[in-house]
Amino acid sequence: MTKQEAKEILDQSEEAGLVHMSRNTTEDVDFLCNCDRWHCDVVTQVLKQAKPGLIFNSGFHPSFNPELCTVCETCIERCPPEALTFRDNDAPVVNPDLCFGCAVCATGCPESAIEMESKPDFPTPPKNTGELVAALRSVSQNG
Ligand code: SF4
Ligand code: SF4
Repeated sequence: MTKQEAKEILDQSEEAGLVHMSRNTTEDVDFLCNCDRWHCDVVTQVLKQAKPGLIFNSGFHPSFNPELCTVCETCIERCPPEALTFRDNDAPVVNPDLCFGCAVCATGCPESAIEMESKPDFPTPPKNTGELVAALRSVSQNG
């Protein structure tokens, strides 16, 4: 597969509403999955939790431009954890306990009314696999 073919597959995955997922490190990234909410074991298990956004998060959240939003509901249908609702026929409102920052809403908005913003104070992921394992051990030991 060429790089161009790989990029085309990523574009098709995005259009289909799949969630790009990879290792939670800033280096040593050696895979990229494109998961859906019905068949990926990781995503389906996370979606069974009461607050998926607290255990699985990209560090970004959607910001809606009410001037551009036409209330078409596309983002609501695409959102895997069903984190979006309408209030007063205005731009959607996001539930932060449910939203895990996948950007599936933003990539599907026909009006480009959604931007993904970095969450302030979100912790930087571990640098490599060794640091990731140490961080997981620390969390597990501290309950
Ligand atoms: S997909 Fe875009 S235009 Fe449609 S409701 Fe969502 S934000 Fe508004
Ligand atoms: S980023 Fe958008 S599609 Fe993804 S979980 Fe949050 S609201 Fe839903």
